[in-house]
Amino acid sequence: MAQILLGKEVTASLNEEIEEKVKTLKEHQVMPKLGIIRIGEKQDDIAYERNAVKRCEKLSVAYEKFLLPEDVTEEMVIDTIQKLNKAEDIHGVLVFRPLPSHLDEEKILNTLDVEKDVDGITNLSMAGIFAGKEMGYAPCTASACIRLLDHYGIDCTGKKAVIVGRSLVVGKPVSMMLLKKNATITVCHTKTKNIKQEVQAADIVVAAAGSAGFIKKEHLRTGQVVIDVGINVNEEGNLCGDVAFDEAEPIVDAITPVPGGVGGVTTSILVEHVVNAALLKMKASENSITNM
Ligand code: NAP
Repeated sequence: MAQILLGKEVTASLNEEIEEKVKTLKEHQVMPKLGIIRIGEKQDDIAYERNAVKRCEKLSVAYEKFLLPEDVTEEMVIDTIQKLNKAEDIHGVLVFRPLPSHLDEEKILNTLDVEKDVDGITNLSMAGIFAGKEMGYAPCTASACIRLLDHYGIDCTGKKAVIVGRSLVVGKPVSMMLLKKNATITVCHTKTKNIKQEVQAADIVVAAAGSAGFIKKEHLRTGQVVIDVGINVNEEGNLCGDVAFDEAEPIVDAITPVPGGVGGVTTSILVEHVVNAALLKMKASENSITNM
């Protein structure tokens, strides 16, 4: 039987750290604040927004929503982002993706200042991850995978990590973050041959394909740690991951459930990034006063 890597345990310790940081900020009269830009009324976006808002409230972090219509113009979105770039009281900005198809996503997202890019949506944040430099923030989901591994004391050094999925939101950044933690990485995608053998060879599996129950018992073996990022709805209408949990759990050493794994950690990471951005800004302004 596998150890179940519960997101709520990670979130509890992460929230304690965030609360300490918020206390420090408030002692300096700084109220950390998240700006949320949502275009249209997509149910997935609304659900994530609801969770983010609840987590902000729980952790005494302010937020403000900027809701734009589905047929918004590129100029209006860019204006909104630029307004938030300049806003002294906003420390981080969340923009729901993908944007409606009539908008130039690349151009719009890269308008956001890297200092406020708390969900790693800009090319500069991504460059930071690939260069191993502290620049911007990693996408929250990728950070959540790493936080889960760290929390449960899973050492990545020398391990073979296989990541299924190569998106900029999860697969690519998590690969680079695992590489930084000295894992040897393999990234699989729809053109990969012999996915079964690739996944079976892994010590650490990160499943981020967006395909319900795609990783089955024949992909798995004893000794593996499985991080299931997938959020899917199965044929019975239930929420499930990319890994067939009931098949995997008796085989592998440790696994994250869906729901109850990566998802909840992701929301706290978002709040942590906002708080870290506020702390960085506070320290920068203190330094500039000292140097005057
Ligand atoms: P995405 O942009 O659709 O990317 C999926 C990736 O998986 C692609 O690289 C694709 O390969 C690969 N893939 C899909 N089916 C495959 C298959 N049968 N075999 C091998 N590779 C396959 O999705 P995403 O945004 O990365 O999200 C992935 C999953 O994570 C989704 O279920 C999403 O809902 C979930 N998610 C969860 C969180 C969270 O907080 N827990 C946050 C974000 C996303 P190609 O590149 O070749 O097409």
